[in-house]
Order: sequence, then C-alpha cells, then structure tokens
Amino acid sequence: MAEIEREAMEYDVVIVGAGPAGLSAAIRLKQLDADLNVVVLEKGSEVGAHILSGAVLDPCGLDALIPDWKEKGAPINVPVLEDNFYMLGEAGQIRVPNWPMPPLMNNHGNYIVSMGNVCRWMAEQAEELGVEIFPGMSCSELVYDENGGVKGVVAGVFGLEPDGSYGPNTEPGMELHGKYVFLSEGVRGSLAKEVIAKYDLQKGKEPQKFGLGMKEIWEIDPEKHKPGTVTHTMGWPLGKNAGGGSFIYHLDNNQVYVGFVVHLNYENPHLFPYMEFQRFKHHPMVAELLKGGKRVAYGARAISEGGYQSMPKMVAPGVALLGCSVGMVNVPRIKGNHNAMLSGKAAAEAAHEAIKAGRASDELTEYETEVREGAIGKDLKKVRNVKPLWSKYGLTASLALGGFDMWTNTLGFSLFGTIKHGKSDADATGQASKFKPIDYPKPDGKLSFDRLTNVSFSMTNHEESQPAHLKLKDPSVPVAVNLPKYAGPSARYCPAGVYEFVTEEGQEPKFVINFQNCVHCKTCDIKDPAQNIVWTVPQGGDGPNYPNM
Ligand SMILES: Cc1cc2nc3c(=O)[nH]c(=O)nc-3n(C[C@H](O)[C@H](O)[C@H](O)COP(=O)(O)OP(=O)(O)OC[C@H]3O[C@@H](n4cnc5c(N)ncnc54)[C@H](O)[C@@H]3O)c2cc1C
Repeated sequence: MAEIEREAMEYDVVIVGAGPAGLSAAIRLKQLDADLNVVVLEKGSEVGAHILSGAVLDPCGLDALIPDWKEKGAPINVPVLEDNFYMLGEAGQIRVPNWPMPPLMNNHGNYIVSMGNVCRWMAEQAEELGVEIFPGMSCSELVYDENGGVKGVVAGVFGLEPDGSYGPNTEPGMELHGKYVFLSEGVRGSLAKEVIAKYDLQKGKEPQKFGLGMKEIWEIDPEKHKPGTVTHTMGWPLGKNAGGGSFIYHLDNNQVYVGFVVHLNYENPHLFPYMEFQRFKHHPMVAELLKGGKRVAYGARAISEGGYQSMPKMVAPGVALLGCSVGMVNVPRIKGNHNAMLSGKAAAEAAHEAIKAGRASDELTEYETEVREGAIGKDLKKVRNVKPLWSKYGLTASLALGGFDMWTNTLGFSLFGTIKHGKSDADATGQASKFKPIDYPKPDGKLSFDRLTNVSFSMTNHEESQPAHLKLKDPSVPVAVNLPKYAGPSARYCPAGVYEFVTEEGQEPKFVINFQNCVHCKTCDIKDPAQNIVWTVPQGGDGPNYPNM
C-alpha cells in the first residue's frame, strides 16, 4: 500500500481523552501559561458522551484545580447527606453501622454528580482558557520520533473499508504532534496499552486488576426519592462466585443511579455479570425502591482496581499516562475522579516546567514522583491491601481484615506490608468443567431487562460499514479453545451482547462479533482468558451517547 500522507499540526501538549484527567491537564496548562498550545481529542460524539462513573465525587481534585467552581456554576449540587452500607442476603439485609468504618470511607463533604455533565462543564472552562477541544476524533495510532519517543497521535481516520483498507471515501486523518503527549484514555486505554508494552512500563509492578461496572439511571417515585442518599451493598447475589457489590445514589430530579460492580478476577466462567446486576434489582429492598419507576439509561465501563501496587511507570520519552490509564481508583471508596483530576494537574505542572526550561519529548519524571509521593499516592497507599485481601480471603474475612488494615494505615502502618495481587484477571478464569453453570432468572421487563433492550438505552451507534474495532489475534481461538475450555465466556462477560457463538444444525459453531453494540467498556480486552481480543478505537463519534451518566 502507498505511504499515507497526512497533514500534521504542532502543539505544545496533545491530550488524548476528555475525561476528568485530560480536561484537568488542559485547564492547568492554560492557567499556568495562556500561550501554550493545547489540544484535547475525544472519541465520543461530544465531551461526556463516553463518561461513565458512579458518581460520588470527592471535590478535592476540583478544589485544587478550580477553587471557585461553585461560583463558576459547576453542575455539582447534591451534597451527600446519608451514607448506608448493607450486607444483602437473598430475602433481607443487615445494615453495617458507620462507626467501625475508617474515616476515609465517610462521604461527608462529597457530592452526587453526573460526571458526564461535570466533564461538559470542565470542557467549557478549558475552552474559555483557549484549549482546542475536538470531540468525535478517535486517536487510533501513536506517532514515534526517530529516537523511538512518542511524538504525537493520528486522529480522525474515517470511512475505512470493511476490511480495514483505504477506499475512495476514506479520510486519512491527521497527525497531531506535541512536545508532550498525555494519554488520558481512562481504564485500559488502547494507546496507553501500546505504550505500557513498548516501554515495558509494568515491569516490577503487580498486574493491573479490574472490575466491570454496569449502571442504570432510574426515575423513581418522588415519594421514595431522597436526594443525597448513598447506599452500597455487598453479598447477594454474587455470594462466593465473585467480589463486587452495588451502589445506589439519589441525585436530583427524582433520578437514582443504580450500579453494580463485578470484580473481573472471578474464576467461574459460567458467571454472567450482567445477569447478576439484573438479579440484584429484584432484592426486596431494591425492588421496593424501583417499583413504579422507569429505567432511562444504561451503560457499562471497566474500573481499575489494582491500586497502588499496580500503577505502571507512567512516563516514557514524550509521553505521560494520566488518571485511570494508570489506574488511580481507591477501591474501597470506589472513587477515582478526584485522583484523575489531581493527576491531570500534576502532569500539566511538570510539562509546563519542562517546556519553560526548553525541554521536549523526554520523560516527565517530576510528574511520576508527584503521583507516587503526593496526594494520589497517599490516598491509594492506605487502601492498597483491601482488594488483595478480598481476593484471598473472601468477603466476610476481608471486611474485618481490610477494615483493620485501613485503620492501621490511617495511623501510618500496616501489619500486612503490601500484598500482591498475583494473577491477571484473564489468568484467573477457571475451566468450565470445574464449575457449576449458574441458572439466571429471565428478566421481567419491569425491573430487569435483557441485554439488547438495555443497550438501546445507551444510545450506542457504530457505522456498520467500518471494520470491526474488536480484533482477534487468532480467529480460531474462540471456537477451538475458549468454547470447549471456558464455555465461551465472552458471550457472558460482555455487558452489551457483542459476542455470540452461533450454531446452525450440522455445522461447526461460529463466533460472531456484533461490534455495533459495543459500549466501550473494554471488558473483553481484559477478561478474555487467551488475551486474544484486542479493543481498538472505532471511528470518532461512534459508541455510546450517554446523557448524564
Ligand atoms: C461503574 C463505575 C463507578 C464509578 N464510581 C465512581 C465514583 O462514584 N466516584 C469516583 O470518583 N470515581 C468513580 N469511578 C471511577 C472513575 O470513573 C474513574 O476513576 C475516572 O473516570 C477516571 O478518569 P479518566 O479521565 O482517567 O478516564 P475516563 O473518565 O474514562 O475518560 C477517558 C476519556 O478518554 C476518551 N478516550 C479514550 N481513548 C481514546 C482515544 N484513543 N482517542 C480519543 N478519546 C479517547 C474516552 O472516550 C473518555 O471520554 C467509577 C467507575 C465506574 C466504571
């Protein structure tokens, strides 16, 4: 194929991803020097279209970035007023009192927000400062300089032929070059994954761990709506099959966020995370809340859970990884937005100093030091053993051990040191023959819904004539290996019904990828036991169109 010619544009800093990390970096760079040229590229059709969080926001990140966010009209209006934590059994629940919880678990001073709307507002702040923001622009490739450092990205490739080749309607996109490139793609970023592999950034660190978060927005009976109420549950329906739990957050306008997280290190490949979520809503306590209401939106996204010991090296020549592209979620608090914002701010400050000193395309080591030793590192270090204790000892024992460890860490020490995670989530998957299949009740269409109906509530759209953005390294693996050995787990772990094994009479099963349904959660890239599925970006503007997730 002939060499593709692309226009190139030069910037001081090129930022991939308009989430809280990328937007914070953009804002901070322009606060520090209005003359810096900063561009943010976002694959969603608009800023916020692909943002999915719980979300209870700890405002410490925003306080540091835009201290007068209230006066500037940030859409952050529902303070947390009540914090509930329940252990669920199938027919009932036990309330865990708040007093034994370490102070860091307290949500006092936090807010229930739509992070999609917070990001839309942050984008306005950034644009007012002169940042160029281009939504609908997927960054599909990295551009390297002659020394092997990252020099930029390719963005805006549209209209590829179904086989991936260039056709008469293909727009080749453009190169955006920067003195520094920030990858703030969120969890399991596709370019970040390439950078981590190329520069071996995970070396000496624990494997990254993940959960799958699924979320619905419900409009409920105003009589039952209590703005500012935060409820977390553990226990049923997952039981011993997997770690995880739920969140129920009452925001304003009679809306409630109902979400469910399943840790992706589960062993039983028959587990169906989406159906666990649907089943959860039939618990008497939850059903009572939702009865008479309606589900208005659905979405899913992986969440990084490896924490302190899994953070890769986050800088390489010309490039820095930000936010959940590193993995900065405080797992027991289920919060990462504050750290994403703080990381954006820290990366911007390091890049600003470097550019001022005439540097370019080198490693922003000052950024990494700030993340590990500053507020983010302190936040994550205290809770570093909660996830591995849960994985090793199960829910009940780990509640006591993890709680104890968080208390001692609050006082400055841990009896456990730093516990390793061990296996990756893909490697944790066990063989189907060693586990019992799980029987899931059929959705009733009132409280619970089938996957495809729910996907239509994510407003997902992909141009069908483009090549599938979910690539198989070896097309034979799903049927030859994953089906006999793991009972074809992709048909269950995908919360959007992308993967199917279709069997016609007398024929070999076929593996079908309905990429049009993909909600960009990245679970397949994480959980496929053979690590055979590679999530790449589809063309810009495709994917979910979340209203106010
Ligand atoms: C179910 C769930 C509940 C959560 N609850 C909470 C909570 O209550 N409180 C909290 O603080 N945190 C919560 N989190 C964690 C929080 O969402 C993350 O920590 C946070 O989103 C990380 O921000 P980020 O900017 O790094 O990435 P993201 O928010 O994921 O943003 C990344 C952006 O980059 C874009 N992008 C990615 N790749 C490309 C590309 N190649 N080209 C162009 N654009 C690209 C994406 O479309 C997206 O807009 C939750 C997460 C989940 C999944």
